[in-house]
Amino acid sequence: MIKYEQIQRLVKYTSTQFPITSLHLNTDGAKRTPKEIVIIFKELINQKKKELGKLGYTTKQIQSVERDLKTLTELITERYVMRKFKGVSVFVSTGNDFYEVFELPRAPRDVLIVDFDPYIRPLIAILEEYSRYGVLLVDKAKAQFFEIFAGEIEEHAQMETELPRVTARVPGFASGKEVVPIPHHGGRRGPGGGQYGFDERHIERRLEKRFYEHLQRVNEYVFKVFMRDRFDYLIIGTHAELRYDVESMLHSYLKRKLVGWLPYGPEATVKKVLEDASKIIKRVTEETWAKMVDELISEVSKDGLAVVGLEDTVKAVNYSAARTILVDENFKKEGFICPKCGFLSVEMRRCEFCDEELIPIVDIVDELVETAITHGTEIHHIEGNEKLAQNGHIGAFLRFRI
Ligand SMILES: [Zn+2]
Repeated sequence: MIKYEQIQRLVKYTSTQFPITSLHLNTDGAKRTPKEIVIIFKELINQKKKELGKLGYTTKQIQSVERDLKTLTELITERYVMRKFKGVSVFVSTGNDFYEVFELPRAPRDVLIVDFDPYIRPLIAILEEYSRYGVLLVDKAKAQFFEIFAGEIEEHAQMETELPRVTARVPGFASGKEVVPIPHHGGRRGPGGGQYGFDERHIERRLEKRFYEHLQRVNEYVFKVFMRDRFDYLIIGTHAELRYDVESMLHSYLKRKLVGWLPYGPEATVKKVLEDASKIIKRVTEETWAKMVDELISEVSKDGLAVVGLEDTVKAVNYSAARTILVDENFKKEGFICPKCGFLSVEMRRCEFCDEELIPIVDIVDELVETAITHGTEIHHIEGNEKLAQNGHIGAFLRFRI
């Protein structure tokens, strides 16, 4: 799973001494065979090797890059191609002893870049499309915390609060030592509620106190992890009778992040948790998309900083004006591109920037997204949104008017 801290390590990376090699590779098994992936990768490597002498690097820097390319070749040709991920981003600088691999839920465009800064935009554009979910399973004495990101689940922690072994000075208890279950609301409480009067109520209170302390500890842990790892949403699993207590003890910040409940505590299997949480995640994702599409359409209708439809979105990308693009996942369209500067057009004409003859391309949408990524535009591939479909399947929030 791609962790927040891993992304941070990359974003904070700086080097003055040695270049860093950045590889983004489409390894989507549905689109390419392992053999094809290797061929495409080797072409990238060979081309880079030819350029190396012309970059003005010192011998030591060239040696570092050569080692980078060797490391990448070993990774891709020997270890990687058979995996289930749709793409991979690798950053390696042998001279700086830096190496990070990101296995991606969406295919990036193939690119290999050697520079003093890592080329992270294709990776960031993909990661921005996914939210990070925390899943807390909690019961009276135990808790378990998972992270879900881009369809993968990972366990973070298990917590267990030891219940007090209560010495009940009650007639009839042979050993005088019994573990008493924690009472839940609706249990016998108040004066005269229990068979043994004061002692039983006293035990109840001690156990209840322990339960609240447990919830508090769990709460603190989840809050800390949320702040540190920048989680977006929280899902909680607990038994119905504990839900009220769990919710009322929740930190107000976490309450705002809470998007759904699962009907069980820590006894559930990881597979079951992922399966059920995925349904909640799907709902939250669709709601987020719907909200973005509504905002886009409303912005366009009041003549604000937004456009809809392919032609205007292409224009926005040509002028580096797109801040965020919303695009129908399955939208494809033929178009034209300038072979010299990358200018895009839905119709055959001469390039607006350099007057070159445009050439046809099979999918202008894909080309447009890739160009936008190089401008640092945020991309959202949206599935099954009727309103977006009715508004030309694509649109963009703008940085400035075009
Ligand atoms: Zn041009």
